[in-house]
Amino acid sequence: MTKRLLPKLDPEWIPLLVPDMPTPEELLPWLEQMHRNRYYSNFGPLVRELEAELAKRFNVGTDQVTTISNATLGLEMVLQALNLPAMSRVLVPAFTFVATATAVIRAGHVPVLADVDENTWLLTPEMARAAHADLRLDAVLSVATFGMPHDMQGWARFEHDTGLPVVIDAAGAYGSQWLQGVHGTLVFSMHTTKSLPAGEGGLVVSTRPGLAARVRQCSNFGINLHPDVDVAFGTLADTGTNAKMSEYHAAVALCSLHKWDQLAFNRRVLQADFINQLNQASGNKLSWQIAGEGGMQMAPTLLCARLPSASARIALEQGCQRSRIMTRRWYQPLLNQMPVLKTKCHLLDTPNAEMISQTLIGLPFFLGITEEQRQRLLIEVRRALNY
Ligand SMILES: *Cc1c(COP(=O)(O)O)cnc(C)c1O
Repeated sequence: MTKRLLPKLDPEWIPLLVPDMPTPEELLPWLEQMHRNRYYSNFGPLVRELEAELAKRFNVGTDQVTTISNATLGLEMVLQALNLPAMSRVLVPAFTFVATATAVIRAGHVPVLADVDENTWLLTPEMARAAHADLRLDAVLSVATFGMPHDMQGWARFEHDTGLPVVIDAAGAYGSQWLQGVHGTLVFSMHTTKSLPAGEGGLVVSTRPGLAARVRQCSNFGINLHPDVDVAFGTLADTGTNAKMSEYHAAVALCSLHKWDQLAFNRRVLQADFINQLNQASGNKLSWQIAGEGGMQMAPTLLCARLPSASARIALEQGCQRSRIMTRRWYQPLLNQMPVLKTKCHLLDTPNAEMISQTLIGLPFFLGITEEQRQRLLIEVRRALNY
């Protein structure tokens, strides 16, 4: 364990990512406000302020958003709040972070692992329609892969035509994935590596009537906090859990939110510039995730490239290892190749996901990466591609 952590701490290694967390100085006013309030959890003033600010940005009412302790529990609670029968079939892309599928299983359902589009790396409404025609589905949990937003109009049409609820795991897509003027359910992460970092945290945005409120209730053990329903105020109305966002995390999230525009802009500039350099160094042999109808990534936090072949990827990985540059095979192996998952899932054919996963590499990407560090990577890219 210590051995694996060492490279990151070694100043000679170029890290994969460096979180943009607020500094202690920036945080201090928010923490002082929290302490004056004498409120540290349980939907305190900072959580309510954060929810109000986010509701405004999504152009929905405050009853259509709820903060949560993390996106994984958010997905679980959204699935619970949909009231699907036990062992429902939930379509999930095979190319995603493990939490997308584990949330489905823990909510008592069966993930149906699907392919993704070869350009956007997203599970699309067209693919979901085909899967639904082949085997009856009960819901869809698509993913904003690496923060790439979905076209919500397409998913709203799918919901309308099929009657199936659609949820977007938009964990890494804060600032990129919006409702786009239609109905939808989005789950965001505020983990330190995502685009609105709070350390740990999450957000559910949903125009589905009552859904955000039920998730909020579930996040507070399932205790009813509404005076105007059948169940008495303060008694148990649902089998919930504890997934509340604390005031400490809300303080960090609010601070991050106030800095978000500038940091997102800087990340977009860095991404464009870095991709240019990598394209030149590789003779345009790298390929990139392509934005679809849903728009572009507004606050990229990862940089993933596809190499022309599996052997070129290995060559680049080995070169980077020798030059002390961290790389990562994000979202790999595919979910349908993980022993723990595949026996609990229904597997569809995933030719695009397999092609992507054999050639994808995550490269160092963080604000403050130096020109010297970038040149070190570019040398390895040139070498691996014999360019
Ligand atoms: C990060 C991530 C999650 C988990 O988010 P947490 O807030 O850390 O629980 C889930 N799904 C995807 C696609 C992610 O990238």
